[in-house]
Amino acid sequence: MAKILALAPEKCSSCRTCELACSFQHDQEFRPTASRVAVFAWELVGVSVPMMCLQCDSAACVKVCPVGAITKSDKGAMVVNENRCIKCKMCLIACPFGNTTYDGISEKIIKCDLCQGDPACVKFCPNEAITYKEATAATMKKKKAYAAKFKELVQEVGE
Ligand code: SF4
Repeated sequence: MAKILALAPEKCSSCRTCELACSFQHDQEFRPTASRVAVFAWELVGVSVPMMCLQCDSAACVKVCPVGAITKSDKGAMVVNENRCIKCKMCLIACPFGNTTYDGISEKIIKCDLCQGDPACVKFCPNEAITYKEATAATMKKKKAYAAKFKELVQEVGE
């Protein structure tokens, strides 16, 4: 069975070590804008949520890509083929959770690829706020609920 990154926002201390670990894993740089995980923090209420691609079964990014640059890996991650991608950013627009982004420095579309089954964010999170678990119906439901809540919060802040 495929595995997913499961979240426990109540354990997240907003240290952003996951962002640094992710950017170093992918681009050998400690640069949060190159990270596939983003920590959203609401200091006033003491809430922080690490957020990344949900690896949706019927992924909008895969459907909308005009050149078929996003495919599912054997680890269950939707992966962008950099050689095929034409950087039209349709996938960014299509993702309902905003979990696919564009890094202007490396000029790449970036999204979580599960680090080929050994996620750096999981290894380096000091609080076990991100874990790598079997993608059961229950873990998927919980992760989607966090994502929906997160989207709601972002919309409220933007209003
Ligand atoms: S930016 Fe690249 S990966 Fe995204 S939809 Fe366009 S071609 Fe596909």
